[in-house]
Amino acid sequence: MADCLFCNIAAGKVPSNKLYEDDQLLAFYDLNPQAPVHFLVIPKKHIDSAAVLTEEDAPLLGHVFATIAKLCKELGCDGGYRVVTNVGEDGGQSVKHLHFHVLAKRSLAWPPG
Ligand code: AMP
Ligand code: ZN
Repeated sequence: MADCLFCNIAAGKVPSNKLYEDDQLLAFYDLNPQAPVHFLVIPKKHIDSAAVLTEEDAPLLGHVFATIAKLCKELGCDGGYRVVTNVGEDGGQSVKHLHFHVLAKRSLAWPPG
């Protein structure tokens, strides 16, 4: 989608602090980090949010979580981490392209605000 920020980041048209890339995914550091480690994982193809995922997206989602596990291991997130995807207005989604926040290297409160 031409006017989608994360599509433009995935296409390399908008710069990002890239952590990982393959044919399906891009991982890059969040511009406004909420933890010592805070990166985003996005599918390169445009998906509005987790609300429109279907069974057909299962391989992609498996790849997302396997990649997150690999990156967190490489980054030494031994104390654990949190994976969050915000959906819609009440979920606090500001960028309408599916993305997974990965937060680590501090103790994270629960429940969220
Ligand atoms: P959400 O509020 O769940 O939609 O998350 C969007 C996230 O994208 C926020 O944490 C922003 O800080 C982050 N963000 C917005 N623009 C950029 C950008 N150009 N590069 C990296 N992260 C960004
Ligand atoms: Zn997009």
